[in-house]
Amino acid sequence: MSEQNQVLDVVIIGGGLVGGLTALLLAQGGVQATVLDAAPVLDQDKTLAVMNPRVLALSQATIHLLKKVGVWENLARQQHYTGMQVWNKNGYGEINFGHHSEQPPKVEQALGAMVEPSVLNLAIQQKMLAEIQDYRTQVRVQRIERGVDVWLIHLADGTVLQTKLVIGADGANSFVREQAFIDLDVLDYKQAGISCAIKTAQPHGHIARQIFLETGPLAYLPMASLNENEYGYWQSIVWTLPDDYADEYAALNDQEFKQLLTRESHHMLGEVLEVTPRAKFPLKARAAKRYVQEGLALIGDAAHVIHPLAGQGVNIGCLDAAVLCDVLLHDRSRGVWAHEQTLQRYEHRRKGQNDAMMHSMSAIGWLETTNLFPVVWSRNFGLKLVEQQSMLKDAFMAQANGLSQLKHTRYAVH
Ligand SMILES: Cc1cc2nc3c(=O)[nH]c(=O)nc-3n(C[C@H](O)[C@H](O)[C@H](O)COP(=O)(O)OP(=O)(O)OC[C@H]3O[C@@H](n4cnc5c(N)ncnc54)[C@H](O)[C@@H]3O)c2cc1C
Repeated sequence: MSEQNQVLDVVIIGGGLVGGLTALLLAQGGVQATVLDAAPVLDQDKTLAVMNPRVLALSQATIHLLKKVGVWENLARQQHYTGMQVWNKNGYGEINFGHHSEQPPKVEQALGAMVEPSVLNLAIQQKMLAEIQDYRTQVRVQRIERGVDVWLIHLADGTVLQTKLVIGADGANSFVREQAFIDLDVLDYKQAGISCAIKTAQPHGHIARQIFLETGPLAYLPMASLNENEYGYWQSIVWTLPDDYADEYAALNDQEFKQLLTRESHHMLGEVLEVTPRAKFPLKARAAKRYVQEGLALIGDAAHVIHPLAGQGVNIGCLDAAVLCDVLLHDRSRGVWAHEQTLQRYEHRRKGQNDAMMHSMSAIGWLETTNLFPVVWSRNFGLKLVEQQSMLKDAFMAQANGLSQLKHTRYAVH
């Protein structure tokens, strides 16, 4: 089968959160993308019946974008949070943002929301099935190559698509990036993350907590519970550990792991009563050396993977989507599509920001796992300093909520 005669405006390879959001933003701007995704359509009942081991901390900017494309209201469950608390086990530094709240918070009081990746992917997929005319799942892309003014996309079933623009949104191990020969900087942290859902004896009070242990940061992130009677007691943990500790902890049985967490977290929410199976993943930062080349752009994890410490990975991917759609649609209204300069503007507006975020997370990752006295002292001092300066705290929050990055786009919040 060949679709060789038709030249498509845009093909997005990867229909996860970032690729899906891009397709929906473009559709809203009057451009229908072809979306190719390797994954199958999710089964709603099966997806919602289980708790994910991890959650995504969505910033206000990401929530705003998801609302714009009508995905937010279709989420089956999510958990708003109203405060953050970060402190050192090995010192006295502590920093607090926002406030504690026993009752389910009103949306306007929230700093952001925690959503399970599969719940978010389900809502994105359902919206794409309704709004994207050419959304193909379980597709295997075999090869992509540059033709004369177009990219040729060879699918496993023999189909060949021609397009003026390829958007690579195919995640950390991007095939598009590889096929376009775009080099990658990789920083292996020699650490792994362990995630699972836990139920604690005391409620989380809608606070996201992070404690810096000698081995690395341990985060307790409020998550929606499956059972209404347990509202407020479930959290997802992300525990960043050196590789050998991660192997050892991941191999513990439930009882041993509950005891370890209760002890290591200093009973911060009392005893850990339940744990789900643990997921373990290696931690590596990756940064593509370029985000664009002729007729091609990388977005989301295909362009950058940062340390999960700040919970910003998907948020900066959604900002990529917003900025890319903004520059494409802006030039489209002037009769230009996917011009080299359009794509350069996208790279210029996103790459520096993302690289800076990646480097600061890598530095914090190191700062927080070392026991060198001057470093322990300065990180405590740093946390205390920020805690005492409301202007510094406001600046931190402004950076974290992402809204300033949308300011010069059509998606700005007024
Ligand atoms: C432990 C952990 C905790 C995290 N916590 C947070 C957090 O709190 N907040 C946050 O913002 N981020 C967090 N992140 C990062 C976040 O998960 C990612 O940044 C996000 O999922 C990236 O989205 P994406 O759409 O770019 O890629 P993905 O979600 O990986 O989607 C890629 C899509 O491409 C498809 N695909 C792949 N290859 C092909 C191919 N060859 N052909 C067609 N389709 C293909 C896949 O099926 C998939 O649908 C965390 C990450 C980890 C590991």
